[in-house]
Amino acid sequence: MSEEKKDELDLLVGRMRSAAAPLRGTLNRLYEQFRDVRDGKVADYIPELAKANPDWFGISMVTAQGQAFDVGDASVKFSIQSASKPFVFGLALEDHGLEGVMNKVGVEPTGEAFNAIVLDEVSNRPFNPMVNAGAIATADLVKGADYPERVGRMLDMFARYVGHEVFVDTKVFMSERVTGHRNRAIGHLMRNFGMVGENFEESLELYFQQCSILVTCRDLAMIGATLANGGINPVTGVRAIDAQYVKYLLSVMLSCGMYDYAGEWAFRVGIPAKSGVGGGIVAVVPGKLGIGVFSPCLDLKGNSVRGVKVCSELSHMFGLHAFELDRNHQSLDEQLLPQRSR
Ligand code: GLU
Repeated sequence: MSEEKKDELDLLVGRMRSAAAPLRGTLNRLYEQFRDVRDGKVADYIPELAKANPDWFGISMVTAQGQAFDVGDASVKFSIQSASKPFVFGLALEDHGLEGVMNKVGVEPTGEAFNAIVLDEVSNRPFNPMVNAGAIATADLVKGADYPERVGRMLDMFARYVGHEVFVDTKVFMSERVTGHRNRAIGHLMRNFGMVGENFEESLELYFQQCSILVTCRDLAMIGATLANGGINPVTGVRAIDAQYVKYLLSVMLSCGMYDYAGEWAFRVGIPAKSGVGGGIVAVVPGKLGIGVFSPCLDLKGNSVRGVKVCSELSHMFGLHAFELDRNHQSLDEQLLPQRSR
């Protein structure tokens, strides 16, 4: 490493350390507060997921400027599952524009389960891109000359968000593929109504791949920070998504991101977020923060029990709700940049 680069790195590390202390303390306290929670159950309908350790628990935060804070099992890898859905929706938007995507998938919350075999009776579209039907339809919209190119474009897109190459967990992928009968049924129903093309079986494979991508909760926080930063990864400076689409991802996350708890989540927590059955939650405070939580025990709706608790607590603690009147986030800023308030 050149001297210049080394100085730059030292400066960055120094700056992060001096700014980190109060927020690090807050994360440690949250971790202690919820580490003994034993509610919920690890997902087992995809057999490979049942192998997760119920004790795993990690929390990460990355600011829109790229400062990162972790506590607990922040480097344990797990499959992203449905937390991938907003980002593939983003890729579909880039490939087809807003109306092109809206022809094939709506943005209405649904009271149905995430894997319900149901379409809008009037438009025949899947309700939204956060349920399996909508996610399979958006996967179908990912362009590419052939299957490997489509998968490659999807993986490259995630790599831009997280700031490093990403990999698919082959065992999870195979497990999803072998047991994915409901998803295939959804694919066939959508094919019947022309919502997916004739190669939809390939798109189902693409969907299984996207769900099986390995991430850490730090990666989820970085993905969130990238959206918080208008679509540019704050550490690498690489754009992950066209800025004009960021607001669409965030609004569909706020209205539909947390399974059948989405309404109450928007009401109580008020932060755009998406969870997955692997136990991950990615949450975004626009302009401010990305939050990643990982804990594999899920509640009856499919959300990570500890993940919901951590995000709720953070929202209340720092007034992060989207419709909070006093949204200057002073208490958060004081923890991030204590030197400013002195
Ligand atoms: N791959 C999972 C499925 O299709 C994703 C479910 C989820 O995380 O909501 O069932």
